[in-house]
Amino acid sequence: MALAQHRGKLFIISGPSGAGKGTICKALLDRNDIEISVSMTTRSPREGEVHGVSYYFSTREEFEKTIAEGGFLEYADVFGNYYGTPKAMVVEKLEQGRDVILEIDVQGALNAKKVYPESVLIFILPPSLTELRARIEGRGTETADVINLRLSKALEEMSYMENYDYFVVNDNLEEAVVRTEAIMIAEHGRIVKDEIKAMLDKYKEEV
Ligand code: ADP
Ligand code: 5GP
Repeated sequence: MALAQHRGKLFIISGPSGAGKGTICKALLDRNDIEISVSMTTRSPREGEVHGVSYYFSTREEFEKTIAEGGFLEYADVFGNYYGTPKAMVVEKLEQGRDVILEIDVQGALNAKKVYPESVLIFILPPSLTELRARIEGRGTETADVINLRLSKALEEMSYMENYDYFVVNDNLEEAVVRTEAIMIAEHGRIVKDEIKAMLDKYKEEV
């Protein structure tokens, strides 16, 4: 018996810069049949980042035009640059029953939750602020000024955790990925009132 086709689930992952969100998302994508939304940003590409894969890199003018056209599910100003989630792909994939992950900042996550109240918010924490600094410095992609700006924002961002559904401490990477996967699996077993009727109708067809 095939259960009714449900809408996909929207998982939103946030946490301070350097906590390991990108690393965890990449592992999730490699190991699971899910979609990760590619954001648009006005920040400059880092070495090795590919347009259309890491981000859609845009000018401020292009970004503001997309805002005016209503093309974003959410957007925010983060560390002085615009970042936004293009709406069309996310809506299309969810309608197709595919799970979608957004890796976005805390302001964007709360705005997305208003649009999709059923979305699941997961907060990634570093094991300590000392380790967070070591990871950002070790990544080697930001200048000292940018690193200090990002670190100074970390505690403020962590205070948004009270609005989230789950947290995962990224100490050992493999354990953090498994814990995130466990959350995603558990969420697929959550009872969604609007979907119960369709599920029971399938059983009734056999009576
Ligand atoms: P974010 O996307 O949250 O800014 P990244 O995924 O870019 O963070 O990770 C920051 C740096 O820390 C990267 O160099 C990454 O390889 C490293 N890193 C991520 N997770 C771990 C971990 N569990 N242990 C050690 N280093 C990690
Ligand atoms: P980075 O410059 O390190 O790639 O990202 C900086 C911050 O912007 C991170 O917290 C990241 O999660 C967030 N971010 C990336 N894409 C989006 C997006 O589409 N919307 C919002 N609101 N934040 C984003």
